[in-house]
Formats: sequence, structure tokens, C-alpha cells
Amino acid sequence: MLKDLDEYVRLAELAHGHICAGQILGLRLALRGVKLLGLEDPAGKDRKRLVTYVEIDRCATDAIGVVTGCRLGKRALKFRDFGKVAATFCDLESDRAVRVIARETSKQRARELFPEITDKNQQQMKAYRELSDEELFETQWVRVRIGPEDLPGYKGPRVTCEECGEGINFSREVHRDGRVLCRACAGERYYEIIET
Ligand SMILES: [Zn+2]
Ligand SMILES: [Zn+2]
Repeated sequence: MLKDLDEYVRLAELAHGHICAGQILGLRLALRGVKLLGLEDPAGKDRKRLVTYVEIDRCATDAIGVVTGCRLGKRALKFRDFGKVAATFCDLESDRAVRVIARETSKQRARELFPEITDKNQQQMKAYRELSDEELFETQWVRVRIGPEDLPGYKGPRVTCEECGEGINFSREVHRDGRVLCRACAGERYYEIIET
């Protein structure tokens, strides 16, 4: 079952190493998403129904994992590096998805609500607990096309890159000029090999 916010705050602090305004916002954002989908126990009995796309790699992201139970290693957490405090919660069973976006006005609302608190993090932590969902978030019902190769539990052939010889899972290979390449050898390499 869904826990109360205080319990999630404790769990988030353990998972993330500290508690901060970003995490409170992330917890609230994830709770908003799973509640809109009607999921009662996202990290428990409903865990196989949920795939979450996060759009930023910050404090809020870890908090979203705490509420949803979605993890990168379970393939249920997808990272799209858009630099936005937003996430999309996809219910595989009902085939519905909702995107929840933190409003730009939340910091301003925190200042208005608790002007007496000078520490910004404290001010925002308190405000993000108390502001309504509507004040904190915008929501959009969306469609996310999740290919079978992106779903948790996908079993597919493993192929070998014809350039570097490394194995590739989940149909991430690229076909170019009759060759099978990994994404690195196809031009997406983010590293430069110094020595082997
Ligand atoms: Zn943090
Ligand atoms: Zn390669």
C-alpha cells in the first residue's frame, strides 16, 4: 500500500544519503503520478505494471524511485536527459500514462508561504510538503510507445558488434552498410579510448 509522506521521506533519506527539497518534490511528484493511475501498491503488488520515465538526473529522481520501486537495473526506470523536473508514469496493465511536471512557480510559492524561513532548502522542504498537488504540478495524459525490447523481462538475441567485438543486448545494434555495429562504433561513443 502507499505509505504516508513521512515514511517516504525516511526511505528517501536512506536511499539518497540526505533529505532535501528536491526529494520532497520528487516524492510528491511520484505520488501524484501513481495516484492518478490508481495504483495502490506501486512498489509491491503493482510493481510489474509500472514503467517510469524520468527527465532529470537529480535529487528528485532518487525520490521517484523510492515511491515507484522502479529501478534502472530492473528496466522499469527510463532516463531521458531533458533536464526537466518531470516524469511519466506508464501503467502497462491499463495502457495509460500520465506525465507530471513540476511547476516553475513552486519556489516562488515557497517564498510567499514561508517568508520567515531564510534557509531556502528548509523553506522549500516545508512548502513542498504543504502545497496542493495543483499548485506544485501540471499533468498531462500521454501515450508512450514502449517497444517489447524496452520492457522489463524482454529476452532477445544477443549480437556482437562487427567493429569492436563487444556483445549487445536488447536490439540496441545499428545496421550500417551491411554491418552490425554497436551504438558506440556507429558514432555515439561518449568516451575516447586511451589505452587497453
Ligand atoms: Zn538531494
Ligand atoms: Zn562496437
